[in-house]
This record gives sequence, structure tokens and C-alpha cells, in this order.
Amino acid sequence: MSFTVLTAEFQHESNTFSRVATGLEEFRARYFLEGEAALRERGDANTPLAGFLDVARPQGWRVIHPLSAGATPAGPVTRKAYETLVEIIVGAAWREVGRIDGVLLGLHGAMVTEHLEDGEGELLSRLRAALGPEVPIAITLDPHANVTKAMTREAQIIVGYKTYPHVDMRACGAHAASVLDRAMKGEIRPITVRACAPMLEEATGGRTDVGPMVERIARARAYETEPDVFVVSVNGGFGLADIREVGPTVLVTCQGDHKRHRAFARSLAQDMWERRLETVTHFLTVEEAAARAQTFEATHGPLVIADYADNPGGGGYGDSTTLLAALLAAGVKDAALGGLVDPQAVAELSRARRGDVVRLAIGGKTDPLIGGGPLAVEGEVMARRADGRRAQGKFWTDLRAARRRDRRAADLQRRAVARPWPVPRVRDRADAKARRRGQVDAAFPRGVRARGGRSDRVRRRGTVHAGPVEARLCPRAPPDLSSGPRHAVIRTGP
Ligand SMILES: [Zn+2]
Repeated sequence: MSFTVLTAEFQHESNTFSRVATGLEEFRARYFLEGEAALRERGDANTPLAGFLDVARPQGWRVIHPLSAGATPAGPVTRKAYETLVEIIVGAAWREVGRIDGVLLGLHGAMVTEHLEDGEGELLSRLRAALGPEVPIAITLDPHANVTKAMTREAQIIVGYKTYPHVDMRACGAHAASVLDRAMKGEIRPITVRACAPMLEEATGGRTDVGPMVERIARARAYETEPDVFVVSVNGGFGLADIREVGPTVLVTCQGDHKRHRAFARSLAQDMWERRLETVTHFLTVEEAAARAQTFEATHGPLVIADYADNPGGGGYGDSTTLLAALLAAGVKDAALGGLVDPQAVAELSRARRGDVVRLAIGGKTDPLIGGGPLAVEGEVMARRADGRRAQGKFWTDLRAARRRDRRAADLQRRAVARPWPVPRVRDRADAKARRRGQVDAAFPRGVRARGGRSDRVRRRGTVHAGPVEARLCPRAPPDLSSGPRHAVIRTGP
């Protein structure tokens, strides 16, 4: 029996402490692909969508795919961006109303918008309004998801990635699709039960290859082999969201003895709470870090210091100056800072020539209350470069080569306007002379650079969010469908 399945991807990790709003431009800067374009680009990559299709093809499903959209973590999604993107997905559901047998969504699970605390819960309720109570909905989530009660109420099947760094997106997409397949066939009737721990940090230990998460993931996998258990997800949560349902959760997608499954979920959540002090990440003050750098002997490669509080992967601005200030104060010479987002400084520096000595205030401009404010420096312009390198690893592999080429061209274009990296290294003049004599090695890290899109966002600083509020504003009737379908429909076949 062939099924019609609605698929979509819509992902954002929203840092509600960030002043930098996430609008449609920010989705375009990462990916905002409709229909065929989304299938072409993400249908055979390490993405949830590719995993959905891995199951759809051999089953011969008719797949309706309206949208794949995701933006780099930053402040809450604007109302306009959310409503525009959600309407593309929900509009596709209304157009096919009565013909959809199941839904597969690749979500992140920490989306806050200007008008909603729970972006995913709202999307799922709107889909449910279109589909009715019987159609099974399966979703994949990032383990840095804040999973709300609304999400577990509307989605029967939830699969969280089990790796951090995340490398199992496609496998999780396929897992969700295979459970959905059984639900559509009527073989199983799953629900997802949820347990939470009242914590913000350290449930993941940052990693799934060391620390207490290793054991938790092993327990989750073992429980998945028990009868009537289809998925177990262990989510560390996303603490940089000032919302009511923040924090780690354990989810079990199951049927049968719900009480027993709930008890298992609670036991893992309890373990997170009890072992919350078994930290994997040990934090230093910037002064301590600078002191280590000052005495560091580079016998086995460089010393890498991560500024955890300014992590753009969690919505940080990437322009904090406190670490640089501490390194300069400690007299650390042979160091590189990669990268500091500051389009204004880049514009100023792009007017300078190689060898010029310049004075300027760098970084700290997005929100001076976070990360130290602008730092006044004097330095010599040592190089200006128009190329850049992108780190490629298992995180999002196999995205199509054509797309990589397109993106590289777009990046170069953006950098021509405001290139955030590499900023010429600021050293004192004596050091610059030493370098010219070959005494100090150039050591800008390969494969690290800020994204061009981020600098565009930073320019729009000054937007202040009064904090998200929860409101039910969803249309319970079909949205305006007059603009015609934008989704791709593919008939898969074995
Ligand atoms: Zn994550």
C-alpha cells in the first residue's frame, strides 16, 4: 500500500538573550529552499530529509516536500519569518487535506519567535488542525532541543539525534520514517512520553563520546530493543532560552505499558539531575586562560582556547573582546584570534594598506554589556585577503557540490562588502618586525572563519526584544492558498 507523506525541514536554535533577530534574510543565508530545490540540495546529504527519503523510496511513497529552511543560531525568529515559513508547510497540508497519511518533519526543537515561546509546538498544532487527530506525525530533533509538552502531544513519534557533535541526522531521519511507516500501516500506535530535569546546563556534558552521556545513550539504545519501544531520545536542552519549558528531557516513543516507559524516562532524567556535578567542561576565567597561553610551550601543536560564552553555534555574537584583552594584558605574542565579527572595523581596515599602522576600536559593538565592549588597539596591517576557508567535517556532509560552489561565490560577494575575517592580526610593532624577519610563524588557523551572513546581522544591532510571550494566534482555518502550491511532489519507487 502506497502512502502520501508530507515532509519538511524547519530548524532554528533561538537564543533569547541575543539582540540579533532571525529574519528571512538569515534563513536565506543558511538555507531556505522550496520544493525541488530542497530535494536536490538536501535529499542525498547527511540531513533528516535524506533519511526520510531512504525509507520513502523503497516503500514507493508519494512525498510532498514544501520546504527546507534553517538559520544559524541567533535571537528569536521574527514574526514575519516564522509566519512566512510556517505557512509554506501548513499551506501544503491544507492543499492535500484528506490525502495525507503521515508527516515527517526535521526540526531543531528550540525555536522561540517574537510572538511565541514554542515555535515547534505551534507549527505542530497548526498541522494537527489541518490533518485531524488520526494522522501520525513524526519529527526529528537536535538533542539541544527544549522539548515542550505541546510537541509531545502533537507528534506521536520523536527521534532526537544521539550524537554531539551531531553526525547522525540522516540515520535519525530514517529511524523516524521507519517508525512512521509502521504507524501508517496500523501495525503500531505510538505515543511519546516525556520526563524532564530542572536544569539548564551540563546534562550533555557537551559531548556524547565522553562523560555521563555515553552511559545514558547506551541505556537509551538498550531500552529501544525492548518490546513496544520504538525510540528513546536523550536531550540536553538549550539553556540560552528564557522560556518556561527549558531544559533537558528524556523521551520514549512507545506503546503498551505507558507507565513502565514513563518510569524509564524518569530514571534517566533523575540520573541527569543526580550527576549534574560530574562536569566534562572545566571553565577558566579569561585571566587564567591568558596565563596558560603565556607559559604554553607548543611542542605538540597549538593551544586552543574556546570562548564558550561567545559561541556563535549557540547564538553568541562572535565579537567578544574580553579574551583578546586578557591575552594582550598578559603579553601573549604568538597568538591568533579567529574570528572577531566587526564589519565596521573591517570597513575601516579595508581602506588601509599593507604596512599601515592603524588605531581603531574592534569588536564588542553588538551588545557592549556582553563580552566586554569595543577594545581600543593599535596595530600594523599585515595582509588583506579575499579568500577564506570553510571547515568541512561530518557535521553536514555531502551537501551538493554545486551548492558549495554557489555558496562560495555568495560568500565572496558578501565579503567584498563587509568581510569579517580574516581581520589583520593586531600585534605590537616590535612583534610585526620580528615576524618579517621570520622569527614568528604566521598561524591563522586554517578552516576557521566567521560566516558572511553574521556580519550582515550584526549591522542591524539595536533591535531590543522585550522577551517572548506565549500567545495562541494560529489560524484554525486554511491560510490563503491563492498563490498556488510551491511544494514538490515526488513519486518514489523501489
Ligand atoms: Zn545541537
